[in-house]
Amino acid sequence: MQEIYLDNAASTPCDARVMAVMAPLFAEEYANPHSGTHAPGQRAAEAVQTARAEIAALIGADPREIIFTSGATEANNLAIKGAARFRARQGDGRKRIITLATEHKCVLESVRDLALEGFEPIILGLDRNGHVDPDRLREALSVPTALVSIMAVNNETGILQDLSVLSGLVKEAGALLHSDLAQAAGKTGIDVKTLNLDLASLSAHKMYGPKGVGALFVRRRPRVRLEPLFSGGGQERGLRSGTLPSTLVAGFGEAARIARKEWSADNDRLAGLAAELFHGLGTRQVAFSINGEDARRLPGIISLRLHDAPAMKVIEALPHLALSIGSACSSADLTPSYVLTAMGMEPSEAAESLRLSPGRFTTPADIARTADLLAGAVQKVRASTFAQKTD
Ligand SMILES: *Cc1c(COP(=O)(O)O)cnc(C)c1O
Repeated sequence: MQEIYLDNAASTPCDARVMAVMAPLFAEEYANPHSGTHAPGQRAAEAVQTARAEIAALIGADPREIIFTSGATEANNLAIKGAARFRARQGDGRKRIITLATEHKCVLESVRDLALEGFEPIILGLDRNGHVDPDRLREALSVPTALVSIMAVNNETGILQDLSVLSGLVKEAGALLHSDLAQAAGKTGIDVKTLNLDLASLSAHKMYGPKGVGALFVRRRPRVRLEPLFSGGGQERGLRSGTLPSTLVAGFGEAARIARKEWSADNDRLAGLAAELFHGLGTRQVAFSINGEDARRLPGIISLRLHDAPAMKVIEALPHLALSIGSACSSADLTPSYVLTAMGMEPSEAAESLRLSPGRFTTPADIARTADLLAGAVQKVRASTFAQKTD
């Protein structure tokens, strides 16, 4: 049986157009993009600059505001630790760092790690729709705050935060605002200027580009200063030492160029596929609900609760469907998703939830088969749990 890939929120396939840009570069343009003394080095540098401009255009930034990293994990670490440490070194007394309980682990752990350096992490809870109450943020900001980090789109639920409202509160309080855009960039319209962001993280492999490259937007006016994580040659304006993977960077640029033109059409198609899936489950009498149903969500990430069917069992019964329980990073452990429980769901409800993330290359036929397979698996799992209960 053919596999169906429904885990685009964990990683997207690399678009063939992106691979077409990268293949000749891998083969022929091997020079170091920082070697300015010869033509091959200059060509590699030009490829990097083209990509930088495409990525900047995708989020409404200036190319000089884009710092390449190895991915969103590194970008998030650099933004949060870099900004906090720079401020502390300048003698700035603001020690509070605010984030949300549903952030990606790399944001939560970066914020928590800063407690060891004398900062005060504040992790805000959310409502059933995955939103932070603006009043709770305002209250948290009543103590002088160095930095606030709020993701634009959640990777487990697809829920969008109302960043424009929250941004106003953060700016009023004089704190820096960072946003993890790993799931938002290239999937929805993002403009760092309109949102008044100071720092923002991106990842190529979440937008049909290659794994191993990402970017941090660092605002120039007013200039946001960071302490780098790495010591070295001072590449990327001194913020990220190390030779740029110019081929991956060029692929990232092409992925950004495509996403800027196609994200809206992609979303229309994905919304149609999601509707097909829900309809298909309904006609097969599957009892389900969508977590964060009343929230504004991206159509490509579906947090689906299958009532009375443990998600782990359902997944085990579906070897040909690639889907996950919450985020990829935590799927090895069996504790229910911290994202869903932070939204006020019971652990038992969270344990019935799985994440389906179709993407640009998912077909209507894939979705029809998914509905069939899911319905069959749910029936099987419910029958066996019922048998166990009556044993
Ligand atoms: C995938 C993801 C990350 C990590 O990105 P990498 O490029 O894999 O390091 C961070 N935040 C969110 C929201 C993600 O979905």
